[in-house]
Amino acid sequence: RLEIQGLVRRFGGREVVSDVSLSIAAGQVSCLLGPSGCGKSTTLRLIAGVDMPDEGVIRVDGQPIVEGTTRVPPERRGIGLMFQDFALFPHLTVEQNVGFGLAKAAPDRRARIAELLERVGMSRHAAKHPHELSGGEQQRVALARALAPRPRIMLMDEPFSGLDDRLRDDIRDETLEVLKAEGTAVLLVTHEPTEAMRMADEILLMRDGRIVQAGAPYTIYNNPVDLPAAAFFSDLN
Ligand code: ATP
Ligand code: MG
Repeated sequence: RLEIQGLVRRFGGREVVSDVSLSIAAGQVSCLLGPSGCGKSTTLRLIAGVDMPDEGVIRVDGQPIVEGTTRVPPERRGIGLMFQDFALFPHLTVEQNVGFGLAKAAPDRRARIAELLERVGMSRHAAKHPHELSGGEQQRVALARALAPRPRIMLMDEPFSGLDDRLRDDIRDETLEVLKAEGTAVLLVTHEPTEAMRMADEILLMRDGRIVQAGAPYTIYNNPVDLPAAAFFSDLN
């Protein structure tokens, strides 16, 4: 479970993340949805620990990772990352990529890698290198790699934006299935309403650094909080 209270981040006096609070249960997918520049990626970076907030509290399964002077380093937060520019290691095989975040001596290492390759349908590609795979296949391997250490939280920043339309729909559905099976709490960033409608249990509508509305996809779609929110959804059909 991910819980955030009153998160604030300022750059040069300008508030880019303003009083953001949210809570995501295990197995739940929440989509942070909003226009370019509204502060989505910055919010994710604060949670991942690659940037520090000016105010606010972040807890993972009740344990503070950011609170007062507490700052748990990124690698000890139990958080998996899947960002658009987080490429696979080109010199490692599929199997080695998936095993990268696992301790060499972990007794279940081989079984965990095999389980994940099976889950994302990449078992028969285990010995290949990334350049021998399609974009969609690489995406599947990236998902397996992110999930290997069993993160309790998964942060995804526009992870499907490099894929063509047909493939993207398939990968979205498969990714959801895998994440649900693993019981991970997911915060997915997107600026596409269709993606949020398709993937989210809850949509967090963000604008100018604030979450202006939160709720189930069709609740938000049918009852937008104001005109800009309605306009944002209007090209959906
Ligand atoms: P997009 O959909 O285009 O990815 P976003 O919602 O992810 O947009 P952010 O990357 O979070 O937007 O940026 C929010 C605002 O904060 C932008 O105006 C950006 O210029 C600013 N910003 C981000 N990082 C920094 C930084 N390190 N220093 C100064 N300003 C920054
Ligand atoms: Mg961004």
